[in-house]
Amino acid sequence: MESYASEVHFLVVEDEVRLADLIVQYLSETGHTAQARHDGPGGLEAARDPRVDAIVLDVMLPGMDGVQLCRTLRREANDVPVVLLTARGAISERVAGLDAGADDYLVKPFAMEELSARLRAVSRRRPPQGGRLEVGDLLLDPDERRAWRAGVELDLSRREFAVLEMLMENAGWVVSRSRLLEEAWDGEADLNSNSVDVHISKLRSKIDKPFGRDTITTLRGTGYRLEIRQ
Ligand code: CA
Repeated sequence: MESYASEVHFLVVEDEVRLADLIVQYLSETGHTAQARHDGPGGLEAARDPRVDAIVLDVMLPGMDGVQLCRTLRREANDVPVVLLTARGAISERVAGLDAGADDYLVKPFAMEELSARLRAVSRRRPPQGGRLEVGDLLLDPDERRAWRAGVELDLSRREFAVLEMLMENAGWVVSRSRLLEEAWDGEADLNSNSVDVHISKLRSKIDKPFGRDTITTLRGTGYRLEIRQ
């Protein structure tokens, strides 16, 4: 797997073609890549591709159901994050799915924003050994509170460090201003303050400009996203 990938690749396994298309379209619009499969065996084959970062998996599928598919992946020691789509009221499906190793589930019908939130939660970058975060040529050590770009140590304030850490943990995903304020500021700043913009701007001047890079994307009215383009 390419450890430097900035885009998140999703697989959607859903036999309701219209719903599958809607999910793929939504994920694409939010800056990710996604592909769909409409039956169990096709889904399983696609799920074995190591480039897949997370799977949206319907339970009722032709050929092989989602629970079976998930169990097969786990037996193959594949720990790709899986969010199951289950029917309203089908509690036994959910229990079976979680027992089979699914990470989370969503009851149909659902809002796309909710799916997005679940996917972000299950596919959040797990820190590699030593607790260090690595995204492209950015490296951050939360314990030592040190960060590097292309091997050059960065001189960051406590707040800038916290912002970079959050952006790196969620690399490829939008981090909203309110979440930044909540987590990097511990809710100490008010939502209307321009504190976030000021710190993002300072961070850019330290991690991007000296390196001729453009890593932090502003999504007007939404938040910020860390993206490493090769
Ligand atoms: Ca179905």
